[in-house]
Amino acid sequence: MYFYNYLCCPKCQKDLDISVEKKSNHTIETGKLTCVGCGRVYPITGHIPRFVESDNYATSFGFQWERFNQIRYDSYTKSNLIRNTILRRSGWEKDHFNGKLLLECGCGAGHDTEALLNMGAKVLSFDFSSSVEQAWKQNSQYKNLLIVQADIANLPIKKEMFDIVFCHRVIQHTPNPKKSFYSIAARVKKDGDMFLHSYSTRLKSMLHYKYLLRPITKRMSLETIYKLLDRFGPCLYKLVGLAIKYRLKFFRKIIPFENMDSLVEKHNLTLSDEEKYQFSFMVTFDALTPKYDKPNSYRTIRNWFKDAGFDHIVVRRKKPVVVVGTRCV
Ligand SMILES: [Zn+2]
Repeated sequence: MYFYNYLCCPKCQKDLDISVEKKSNHTIETGKLTCVGCGRVYPITGHIPRFVESDNYATSFGFQWERFNQIRYDSYTKSNLIRNTILRRSGWEKDHFNGKLLLECGCGAGHDTEALLNMGAKVLSFDFSSSVEQAWKQNSQYKNLLIVQADIANLPIKKEMFDIVFCHRVIQHTPNPKKSFYSIAARVKKDGDMFLHSYSTRLKSMLHYKYLLRPITKRMSLETIYKLLDRFGPCLYKLVGLAIKYRLKFFRKIIPFENMDSLVEKHNLTLSDEEKYQFSFMVTFDALTPKYDKPNSYRTIRNWFKDAGFDHIVVRRKKPVVVVGTRCV
């Protein structure tokens, strides 16, 4: 119930009245939220308050996570890959998350969510797609978590409340990344921190099969892309493996498939050969299917931070872009 205090009506920002139909464990399984201002009603189903229609621009992510639900969680790979990626990219210590109220923007299937919770954060997560189901399923044992299905540009979340706003691999997949940025930045409280990751507009990043194929893949159904990858994937996967082995960087970037084997080996992930292939399949599908893919330069993003009243702005990486900052006003 704790997290419900941070929710509000996405249309008029007024408080919501909670009506509980069924409670189980520590959460509301079904019920509804009624806005005290405009009277709009938002259902709670499957432990998740719903503020958007189920079918929307993020459908590909839901489709994807339903099929490859397991293999990226740290708890499944018995590694700290996800956690260490967050720490390395943010430059924050593990303790920085402990006890903090954190807004996770775009939780996908909840891989980062799990790592953030394990570092002691109290996490309110949202995603636009039906991947919220998977994120909840994976993390339902954690008491310090509420997941909502919501639109980043029209958040049902009160402003200036969060110690940390965390947005990883998300903003480029929204229709208007700048608008999305200002929407989530407004949720950071004074002296709170923000972590933002975005794909980069650098030429090296743009010369990639996903951008070369986008004019075609954008018009294809998810099922068609899935079928094509299913058919040609094993062969392309081996081909990319060879390109990596012989350091043929150019071919690695333009052959339309990923090969994550070296990452798997480097981090000692406990995955079978079949799972290694699935991992690569998933990353490829992820690259080819988003409805929007709008990268930005680190300069642009640094300016957004400045403009939104952030201080101590640090560009942690330029490709992909990772920027952190503290809100001073
Ligand atoms: Zn309202």
